[in-house]
Amino acid sequence: MPIPATDYIWFNGKLVAWDKATVHVLAHALHYGSSVFEGIRCYDQPNGPAIFRLEEHVRRLVDSAKIYRMDCRFSAEQISRVCVEVIAKNDLKQAYIRPLIYRGYESLGVNPIGTPVDIAIAAYPWGMYLGPDSQTKGVSVQVSSWRRAAPGTFPSLAKAGGHYMNSQLIKSEAIVNGYVEGVALDSHGWLSEGSGENLFVVYRGELYTSPLAASILGGITRDTVLTLAKEQGLKVREEFMPRELLYCADEAFFSGTAVEITPITSVDQIQVGDGQRGPITAAMQKAFFDVVLGRVPDTRGWFTPVRPAAAKATQPAKA
Ligand code: PMP
Repeated sequence: MPIPATDYIWFNGKLVAWDKATVHVLAHALHYGSSVFEGIRCYDQPNGPAIFRLEEHVRRLVDSAKIYRMDCRFSAEQISRVCVEVIAKNDLKQAYIRPLIYRGYESLGVNPIGTPVDIAIAAYPWGMYLGPDSQTKGVSVQVSSWRRAAPGTFPSLAKAGGHYMNSQLIKSEAIVNGYVEGVALDSHGWLSEGSGENLFVVYRGELYTSPLAASILGGITRDTVLTLAKEQGLKVREEFMPRELLYCADEAFFSGTAVEITPITSVDQIQVGDGQRGPITAAMQKAFFDVVLGRVPDTRGWFTPVRPAAAKATQPAKA
C-alpha cells in the first residue's frame, strides 16, 4: 500500500514539504540499519484527535536511541510536542505517526560514533494493518522457522531499524507460505512474538504473554492489554510459553499499534480453540476500543489531545 502523502514532515528541527524530507544514498542508516523509530496512533475521538500513549512511545524512542548511543539533540518533551504539531499542521484526525532517528551522511565506517544523527517525524492517515476483516475474523499464522535474536546479540527492547531485517524474514516467509503473519520463537525455543506485534494466549481462563526476556519488544499495546485485563479481574501471566501452548490454547491474539488487538484463529493449520474470535479476545477488544475511540473517559492519562494551538515550531535542545 503506498503511503498517503501529507503536506509536511518535521525534519531536523523544522517542518519541510513532504517531498523534501530526503536522505543521501550513502547515509549510514541505509547501509547498516542504524536507526531507531516509533509507530504511534492518533485516534479521532469525539472531542477531536488524540494521540495514544505518546509519552510511553517517546520514552521508548529515547531509550532505543540511548541503547545505540545516539544523541538526537531533542528532548522527549520536544519530540512529544512535535508529534502533536505534525498532526495539527497536516490537519490529520486518524493517523499513524512515525518518528525516526537515524545516522545520516558523513562517513561509511562501521563506527557510529561521530556520525551525524538526524531526526524526522512524519504522520499520515492509516487504517487496519492486517486487512479489513482481521479484527473480527482473525488471522492464520505459522510458527516461523526464523528465531528472534538471542539475548546479548540485538537488544530487543530497542525498536531499531536493523532489527526489522529479522521481522522481514518472519513476515515474508509467512506470506509466501500463505499465512497472514509469523510467530517467532526465541533462541531458547520459547514463544516470542510476531514480526511486528506481541503475542497473547488464553489458556484455561488465564491470559498469558511472553516475558520481556523472551526477546520481545516491550509493546505499549501489550502493556495496555495487561492493564485492561487486570482491571477486568483476569489473571495475567507474563511467562515463558512453549510452542505447543498455541495449539492447545482456547484463544490467542496479537497486540500492537498496527494490529491493535487481532485474533489468531489458526497456527500451522491447527485451529485455535473453535477457530473463531473467542470471548476473552472480544472482551479485550471491546475494552481497548472503548478507550482508544474515546467512548469512556481517559482516566489513566493515556491521551494527548491535538489542538491547533499546539502547532508551533520546535528548536533543538542544545544546538
Ligand atoms: N513487537 C514488535 C517487533 C513490533 O514491531 C511491535 C510494534 N511496535 C510490537 C511488538 C508491538 O508494540 P506496540 O504495541 O508498542 O506497537
